[in-house]
Amino acid sequence: MGKYVIVIHGGAVTTDPSSIPPEKEAKLKAGLEAALNAGWEILNRGGAALDAVEAAVMSMEDNELFNAGRGGMFNLNGEVETESSIMDGQTLRGGAVSGLKLIKNPVKLARLVMEKCKHTFLTAEGAHEFALSQGLTLQDPSYFKTDEQRDEWMEILHDADVEHANKHDTVGAVALDQHGNLAVATSTGGIEGKLRGRVGDSCIYGGGSYANNEVCAASCTGDGEIIMLAACAHEVYALRKYKKLSIDKAAREAVGMYADKLQGDRGIIALDPQGNIAIESNTNVFRRAFRVEEEEPFVDIWMDK
Ligand code: ASP
Repeated sequence: MGKYVIVIHGGAVTTDPSSIPPEKEAKLKAGLEAALNAGWEILNRGGAALDAVEAAVMSMEDNELFNAGRGGMFNLNGEVETESSIMDGQTLRGGAVSGLKLIKNPVKLARLVMEKCKHTFLTAEGAHEFALSQGLTLQDPSYFKTDEQRDEWMEILHDADVEHANKHDTVGAVALDQHGNLAVATSTGGIEGKLRGRVGDSCIYGGGSYANNEVCAASCTGDGEIIMLAACAHEVYALRKYKKLSIDKAAREAVGMYADKLQGDRGIIALDPQGNIAIESNTNVFRRAFRVEEEEPFVDIWMDK
C-alpha cells in the first residue's frame, strides 16, 4: 500500500488581518481540523481518495463558518446559491452542480451526478429534480442563511458598494489514497454581492477543480471570474505534464498565470501522485490544513506571518 495524504482549504482571500480576530481564527482552525480528520480517517483505513475529499468538503459545508453549504454568501437578492464539483483522478469521471438553493451538501449531489447521471454537470431546477430522484431531501432556504452573512449582505445593500464588495471563500480538498488514486472536490457559496445566477470557478473542471492520476489533483479558491479564465486547476495539470514542473512550481506558476490581465485573489492546493504537496496563493489569508500518513497535522490560516 502506498503513501496517503490529504490537503484541504477553506478559502484564500486578501483581507485586513483584524477582520479575523483570535477567537474566529481558533474556530476556523478547529473547523479545518475536523474536516481534515473526516477525510484522513478514510484514507488511514485504506479508503478511497474520492470518499475522503467528499467527507472533508461535507464537513466544511455543514460548518457555518465556511462559505459553502450552510453559511454561504448571499447573492444580491438575499439568497444563498451554491455550487460544487468533484473529480476522480483514476477514471477522469466528474460531477458538477451549480445554482443550488435547497441542497444541504452540494458536493454529495456532485458525486451523485458523477456516479448516477449520464451528464457531468447539472444546474438549478434540473439539479434539484435530480437530487430528489436520488433520494436527497431539500432543505428550507433558511437553513443556509447565517446572521453573519445576512449582516454582510445588509451592509452591501445599504452602502450600495456592490462594486467594491470583495469577500469570498470556498472549501476544497485533494487527496491521494493508499491505492495511488488522486481526487479533488471543491464547493462554494461564491462571492459577496454576486448577481443571481452567477457561477464561479468552483464547479468548473479545470477552473476550480481538476484531478488526473497521471500528474496531479488541484483545487482553487479566490476570485472565480479570473480563476476560470486562467483555467488555474488545469494549468497545474498542464505545467506538470508538459513542462515537467514539480507540483509546487506548477502551482506557483498557475497562481501567477496571466496575472497582468487577470487580476485578483488566487489560491491553489495540489498534490502529485507521489504525495508531494503544493499550497500557493497571492493572498495574506489561506485557510488550509494537511496531513501526511500518521504525521502531525498542519493547520494555519495566515500566509504572511
Ligand atoms: N472561487 C470562489 C468563487 O469565485 C470564491 C472563493 O474561492 O473564494 O465563487
